[in-house]
Amino acid sequence: MDFSKPDNARTINRLKVLSELRKGRCSKAELSRRLGINKVSIGEITASLMKEGLITEGEKDFSSAGRPGTLLSVAKDAGRVFAFVVRKRSVSVAVSDLLGRILRFERIPRAGGSCREGIEAAVERMKGDGRCIYGSAVVSDGDEEIDGMVPSPILHLPPAVAEACAEEARHGKLEGMLFLSWSYALDAAVRKGELIHLPELPHIRAQKDGICPCGGKGCLEAAIGGDAMVSRTGAPSLKEIARNGIYRDALSEALKPLSFALASAMQALSLEGMMITGDMSAMPDWAYAQLQSLVMHLLPPSRQDTAIFRATAGDKGAMEGAAAAALDAFFYQRPLLDRLEAIENLSSRIPT
Ligand SMILES: [Zn+2]
Repeated sequence: MDFSKPDNARTINRLKVLSELRKGRCSKAELSRRLGINKVSIGEITASLMKEGLITEGEKDFSSAGRPGTLLSVAKDAGRVFAFVVRKRSVSVAVSDLLGRILRFERIPRAGGSCREGIEAAVERMKGDGRCIYGSAVVSDGDEEIDGMVPSPILHLPPAVAEACAEEARHGKLEGMLFLSWSYALDAAVRKGELIHLPELPHIRAQKDGICPCGGKGCLEAAIGGDAMVSRTGAPSLKEIARNGIYRDALSEALKPLSFALASAMQALSLEGMMITGDMSAMPDWAYAQLQSLVMHLLPPSRQDTAIFRATAGDKGAMEGAAAAALDAFFYQRPLLDRLEAIENLSSRIPT
């Protein structure tokens, strides 16, 4: 795209305005100041967005000196995105408004076969009254095919990436963070500039024995993956292992191989922190403290400020993150703005 062409520049500025309003209500004067776009252009862009019904005017802003401006916000009900989380036993279907708030969700069981009818019926119920559907994000381990049942365009996300998106939607970019998604399957992602999927991390060797579904021996997945832990303990579910004190010993035992894998990853990728996401993020504080101390024991003195966090979105992370990622991709077009920002940063560093 040639950004010097007026039409393209207007498209970019329009996306910048929408992205800024996604963060919260804002006056035209403030938009102009924050985005470095002149007031006349901001006036034109906001007028056209208002005409399309994508933003609305609210109350006056008395927070700054001078004539109070009207506060603008994203018309959150002007459109919807869908989020689908495909698990072994169920598919969760959720619909979100343009600010990423989950409005409704349903869990469709996958009892022995196809859940196509259930998914299609849920989508129909959630479509609402003819609002624009911008697209869908599908979270799965990759071996599921539900594309024919969900509104397009479709974005595919691995669990750890979706859960990382949920945390970043709440806290902003978490540079240098390793996200370990600990549910029935393990998954991992890291924020190093980009958000990078690490599908191999669950297959780091973390103990002597144990055959992994991948065919490897002693993989982290074989040691602490949800399937392995549930069959070893006989617990009714993985969440039960996280929450119920009777599984304390099993949980404590699982933290050892986990600490080896995490410490290796921390070292190899020079990370600053780690976050446990997914079902096991619900494990008690003592387990986080124990994991922290095990990892510190394995890391050199220079890395003793490393911290381990609990995901704040809990087991809703994949769903929330999928909605946020679908909005990023199909409504706010964040990837385009990010690329542009990177180019601007680069050219500002090249001496003229
Ligand atoms: Zn493996």
